[in-house]
Amino acid sequence: VTRPDRLVELMGGKGLDSLLVTNLVNVRWLCGFTGTNGACILTPEDRLFVTDFRYVERAGEEVEGFEVVKGERDLLADLAARLRGRAGFDDAHMSVRAHGKLSEALGGSTELVPAAGLVEQLREVKDEGELGAIRAAAALADGALRSVLERGLAGRTELTVARELERELRERGAQDPAFPAIVAAGANGALPHAEPHDVEIGAGQLVVVDWGARLDGYCSDCTRTFATGELPGEAVEVYELVLGAQEAALEAVRADADVSAVDGVARERIEAAGHGERFGHGLGHGVGLEVHEGPRVAKTAEGRLAAGNVITVEPGVYLPGELGVRIEDLVTVTEDGAEVFSSLPKGLTTID
Ligand code: ZN
Ligand code: ZN
Repeated sequence: VTRPDRLVELMGGKGLDSLLVTNLVNVRWLCGFTGTNGACILTPEDRLFVTDFRYVERAGEEVEGFEVVKGERDLLADLAARLRGRAGFDDAHMSVRAHGKLSEALGGSTELVPAAGLVEQLREVKDEGELGAIRAAAALADGALRSVLERGLAGRTELTVARELERELRERGAQDPAFPAIVAAGANGALPHAEPHDVEIGAGQLVVVDWGARLDGYCSDCTRTFATGELPGEAVEVYELVLGAQEAALEAVRADADVSAVDGVARERIEAAGHGERFGHGLGHGVGLEVHEGPRVAKTAEGRLAAGNVITVEPGVYLPGELGVRIEDLVTVTEDGAEVFSSLPKGLTTID
C-alpha cells in the first residue's frame, strides 16, 4: 500500500472528503518533492501536487504518484479551487493569514477542518528505504566523531571540537549536521541543550557530545559522554547510573511497549539513586526526516511503540554547576526488541 493510499484511509476515518498537505516535510515524504513551494491535495480519487512555474521541472523529476499541477506563485487560490467537502488542513503549521485567504477563496460548500498530524502519524513507522538512510546517517556520524576524537579533547575549546565535527560530517558526505553539534564540558554539560562555548576543555572533566548527520534528508542523533582524565568519584557514579538506566531502558524497547513505561524503566533507576529531579527531559523521541518527530517516549506521553519506529533512548543526569551525563542511542523498534544504529562504545572512555 502506497503512502498516499494509507493517508486516504486515515482521512476516511476522520470523515474528510479532501486533505491539503502544506508542510514541506510532509509533502516530501508523501510525493518526493524537495523544493520550497508546493502542496499536495488528496481525495479518495485524486492525488494532486500543486507548485509554481519555478518548480514544475523539478517536480516532474521528483514527484511520484501525484499529478503535477502548475499554479500561481501564491498557491492558495489554486489549492482552494481543488478542495472540496470537508477539507482537512494542517492547523499546526498553517499561518492565520494563509488560513484566512484560503477560506475566502473557497466555495460555500467546502469547509476547512483542522487535521494536523495525519502525515506525521504515518511517518512514525519507517520503511526499509528510510531505515537504510537513517542507519547510513548514524554510521557516517559515528565515523566523523571517531576521527575528531583522535585529535583529543582536553586543551581544545568546545567550539573548536564542535566545528571540526560538523566539518567532518560534511566531508564524509552529510548534507548537513542534523542539528548544531553539542560539545559541553564540566558544568556546561549540565545544560541539556548546551551550546559549545569558546572555552578550553579541562583535564578530569566529563564532556557531553551530542551530534547527528543528515543524509538523503534523514537524520541521525546520538550522544556520548567522555572523560578527559581521572574523574572525581561522584562523576563516575553518575556516569554508571546513567549507563545502567540507558541499557535497562533499551532492553524494554520492543513493539507494543507502552512509551511511558519504557521511560519509567530509566526514570525509576535514576530516582532510586536520588537523582530523579536531575533527569528533566523525556527518555527519547522519534527521528526521521526531522530530528525530533514522533513518537515521543516520555513520562507524559501516551501510546505504544510499533515495529519500524526509529527512536532515541537518552536518559541524562544534570548536576547544575557541576557536570552532566547523557548517553543516547538511536534504535529502530522490532517485534521483539531493538536494532541499535549507534556503534560507539558506551563504557566510560577517557579521551585525553
Ligand atoms: Zn541528541
Ligand atoms: Zn535526541
